[in-house]
Amino acid sequence: MPYTPRPLPRSIYSQMTQKALEVQAVNLAQGFPDEDGPKEIIEEAIRALQSQKNQYAPSHGIPSLRQAISEHILHTYGLSYDPETEVTIVSGATEGMYCALQSLFQKGDEIIAFEPHYESYPAAARQAGLLIKGCPLLPPDFSIDFDRLHKLITKNTKGIILNMPHNPTGRVLKKDERVQLAALANKYDLTVVTDEVYETLTYERAHVPMASLPGMRERTVTISSTSKSYSLTGWKIGFVLACPSFTAPLRGFHQHTVFCSATPLQWGMVKAFELDASYYLRFREDFVKKRDLLVTGLRKLHFKVKEPEGTYFVLADYSYWGEGMEDQEFARILCEKAKVATIPISSFYLDPRDAHSLRYIRFAFCKRVEVLEEALRRLETGLHALAVS
Ligand code: PMP
Ligand code: GLN
Repeated sequence: MPYTPRPLPRSIYSQMTQKALEVQAVNLAQGFPDEDGPKEIIEEAIRALQSQKNQYAPSHGIPSLRQAISEHILHTYGLSYDPETEVTIVSGATEGMYCALQSLFQKGDEIIAFEPHYESYPAAARQAGLLIKGCPLLPPDFSIDFDRLHKLITKNTKGIILNMPHNPTGRVLKKDERVQLAALANKYDLTVVTDEVYETLTYERAHVPMASLPGMRERTVTISSTSKSYSLTGWKIGFVLACPSFTAPLRGFHQHTVFCSATPLQWGMVKAFELDASYYLRFREDFVKKRDLLVTGLRKLHFKVKEPEGTYFVLADYSYWGEGMEDQEFARILCEKAKVATIPISSFYLDPRDAHSLRYIRFAFCKRVEVLEEALRRLETGLHALAVS
């Protein structure tokens, strides 16, 4: 039998970024900041590049970075992870998720993910031979429907994927939701794989890791990343925190995917975990300003917007401008005619048809103020022109 490749759809982020370049649109689609993170991190990586730190690192990460992360997590959340056996450096949260799903479940196991969700989850789950089931978060609040969640659990359900703070809704789970989720995981003996890459981007209240809830540390795999917290998305330095019995198999997969993450960038990132509280404070303040600018601007333009409590994304209901228009079509027109690129919400569903009645697009606000202002000007002109045409 000839080998048949299993095609995966091309990432919506690549598609939208390419389209934005083609039509010279402002790219509020792909979530990457247009200003680089702290110079002390970059300078440390340059020093590493110039001082013979350019060969393979230990597969699971250089000891100083694992140590720095372990201390940072203890200091920030009071959670203790042994850098030797419980902290792994991976090439971005995306790779961390891939390795977790490959290594912690058996082919045929069922896992549940909330929809909408980050697009790499179903791709990673399918490559691991898992059956991924979507549990819809219902608009306009996008809160968890626990009855629905209970009904999705079968004897084959082995895990649940969380993402908190949540992309694309900007939600931060409430305490009672976290408690109910933990109770459910404990009751059904589920492994929780939680993507917490936006842990430093919460605006109303501090982030509470899922692993800190009662009974959760030993069943939770926490995936995070330096991409967002230090505005260096192109470095792809992520990390995974998990008990030794999860970490060991996960490291096995990591060894046979990338082997190790870029050595000089790991050295540079050690500096990130030495930044003091004032860095995180300024970081949040900057994003609050940008969030408020975009939210206010979009509301003036008749988008219905719920202020995000975390992440750097805003979901905007565009019914005023295109009640009968599907989101993919609306995002395409906005990109071509108003020259502002966004992401249609249906891209965050296992089956985009399940989102056919939803009228949302996602804007990223991790861009300079003048870029956001330019996007709002273009939207104003473009939308009014569309309305009269
Ligand atoms: N998880 C979520 C929820 C994201 O939005 C993103 C996008 N940057 C990632 C993971 C990817 O993180 P990384 O760059 O570390 O792979
Ligand atoms: N996570 C980023 C977003 O949601 C994009 C990451 C990527 O391009 N893979 O926009």
